[in-house]
Amino acid sequence: MNKASFYGLTLNQLETWLIERGHKKSRAVQVWQWVYRKRVMYFSEMTDVNKECIQLLADHFVIETLKEHCRQEAADGTVKFLFQLFDGNLIETVLMRNKFGLSVCVTTQVGCNIGCSFCASGLLKKKRDLSSGEIVEQIMKVEQYLDQENQEERVSHVVVMGIGEPLDNFGNLIDFLLIIKEHNGLAIAARRITVSTSGLADRIVEFADTNLQVNLAISLHAPNNELRSRIMKINRVFSIEQIMQAVDYYLAKNNRRITLEYILLKDMNDSSQHALELAELIGDKKKSVNVNLIPYNPVDEHSQYQRSELEAMRTFYDILKKNGIHCSKRLEHGTDIDAACGQLRSKQIKEARQNNHG
Ligand code: SF4
Repeated sequence: MNKASFYGLTLNQLETWLIERGHKKSRAVQVWQWVYRKRVMYFSEMTDVNKECIQLLADHFVIETLKEHCRQEAADGTVKFLFQLFDGNLIETVLMRNKFGLSVCVTTQVGCNIGCSFCASGLLKKKRDLSSGEIVEQIMKVEQYLDQENQEERVSHVVVMGIGEPLDNFGNLIDFLLIIKEHNGLAIAARRITVSTSGLADRIVEFADTNLQVNLAISLHAPNNELRSRIMKINRVFSIEQIMQAVDYYLAKNNRRITLEYILLKDMNDSSQHALELAELIGDKKKSVNVNLIPYNPVDEHSQYQRSELEAMRTFYDILKKNGIHCSKRLEHGTDIDAACGQLRSKQIKEARQNNHG
């Protein structure tokens, strides 16, 4: 790709760029609103911007870099998009419809190196980080889809929970958050944005220092190091104790509750003893930590894991509640499509390989 993605610029960067080229600072907001509010696909559509500025932008930037490869729509309104990047790589983005609004789950890397043992995406090693523009454009593509469907509702919530470890793509993640929060554009409030990490404790501390005030979710999935290291090999690098220290730091710097994500795996991490251990681990952080219990979506490649029985899930939930822990059960979206993280992408890649070899 010769030209840069316009979506990769923060408003400050655009202002500086235009001023350096002899344009007024106010021009930046004008252009920004055309792109993010009126969702133009070409700079030439910005009818009240002077021709010289339009030409300058068109010489250096492109607006569209992603192409929709395919899309799956579930009965509950969940839409899963597979986008092709300029270099041919495929990424997934999911639109979910909730009572509280529309949320989009974005991908931050092509593949992932964290290698969580239950994850379909972890089977595809990281090829590269996504640029900030490529992450922003996923939301804009969903916005354009809503336009095509004549839907007035806009994306109100963003979860950075798709393929990849967001904190391993730190600089681009920060720019992405600044861009989507910008009130002249998408204006997504910090309290409506959640960044999910596998628990890179050092990066959580760095992230706390950015003071972006977004919600943080940490994939815990086990209440002790022995079990967590079996489920998530990243635990051999950052232990649960290191993560909990980083949690304390994040809470001290940000006025947000932290969510601990916990996928319930049958006969693995779902016993009453595990629930009690988890309650003890959270201990005096009860008021600031929420546990999100997630039913496991079985993946063909990880047949060693099964979804917990309903009874085990209920008991686990009740024990946490009895111990005063805020606890929620994640709603399932799009169970009639390839809903587990990375499933659509890995399926498409497998099919393409089979076709190439067939
Ligand atoms: S769960 Fe997330 S961090 Fe873990 S392998 Fe999958 S994509 Fe990577």
